[in-house]
Amino acid sequence: MNNECELCTLKRINEEFYRCDDFIIISCDNCNVPMVVPFEHIGPGTIEHGDLRKRMENELMKVAYRFYSDFQFFIDRKENKILDHMHWHARRLRVTPNGWRKVIKNRQILKNLGVVK
Ligand SMILES: [Zn+2]
Ligand SMILES: [Zn+2]
Repeated sequence: MNNECELCTLKRINEEFYRCDDFIIISCDNCNVPMVVPFEHIGPGTIEHGDLRKRMENELMKVAYRFYSDFQFFIDRKENKILDHMHWHARRLRVTPNGWRKVIKNRQILKNLGVVK
């Protein structure tokens, strides 16, 4: 826990989509899209925490599907404001001819997670 870190303290939460012991999915203040944040101050570059990453990804996929009501989204793993605390956004995917592959893949992942048939 880093008291100086906005994502460790998370003082302002507009909307909460999901919460477990290890991470939370909230509406990002700046982007107004779902954002997953681990409670622990984990750097984006760490190669550890594989299991945590997987769970974060799965839950963010589920929230994104509910949020967008379709499969046209992607998980943006780029940090733009806070560089030392891992956080990912689920953003709207602009579907280009190649983008449909991503859409089909999202559908497959959600099917594997038992969210859609
Ligand atoms: Zn932090
Ligand atoms: Zn944001």
